[in-house]
Amino acid sequence: MSQNPESPYVFKGLDLGSEAVWHTQSVSPSDRAQLMQQQPRCIWLTGLSGSGKSTIANALDATLHANGVKTFLLDGDNVRHGLNKDLGMSEKDRAENIRRVGEVAKLMVDAGLIVVCAFISPYNRDRQIVRSIFAPGQFIEVFLNTPLDVCEQRDPKGLYKKARAGIIKQFTGISDPYEAPQAAELEIDTSRSNVEKSVKNILTLMQ
Ligand code: ADP
Repeated sequence: MSQNPESPYVFKGLDLGSEAVWHTQSVSPSDRAQLMQQQPRCIWLTGLSGSGKSTIANALDATLHANGVKTFLLDGDNVRHGLNKDLGMSEKDRAENIRRVGEVAKLMVDAGLIVVCAFISPYNRDRQIVRSIFAPGQFIEVFLNTPLDVCEQRDPKGLYKKARAGIIKQFTGISDPYEAPQAAELEIDTSRSNVEKSVKNILTLMQ
């Protein structure tokens, strides 16, 4: 282990990787995909709170799973209970939240899985960075373009009410920005498309 105190990677005497060298592995991602007999991908659902990300991600995951597809579901709220429980809602923390999740999704895709991700991911730049770590065609962005007033009316977790009352700060769509994707592979307005139809549209796109 290197102990170069000048290195920005050295923290409290621990070398965090400045001199880490990529180790070539014998089993490649495509070997793993072949064994899994599927085309690994990341299906990334973005949209306002209440737009239906968790609901559709869960239904999509369940449908794929029931059909023998090896999947995993990464959900924003759940990830903030563990891996990202140290992060808040500032722009910087949101970026780190999405960066970590993107890297986890990439590892899972390299392991051969189809990974469904449900994250508000309000900033274009953060979503672009995640897209950039995947091979072309591996990252499918689905924009749940549900009108804010519909999301607010649904308010499944009572968060809009709290945001309007000022109890929750930095709430996307109310007191924090949401940058709509310009070139998502698929756009769904869930005020016009029920869960079943939305899942079908995503499955069609995946084929
Ligand atoms: P998000 O994960 O985007 O915050 P959720 O999936 O948690 O959103 O909540 C969406 C809410 O809207 C759920 O209570 C769901 O039952 C409801 N809902 C009503 N119609 C739809 C639809 N067409 N698609 C997805 N969710 C819908």
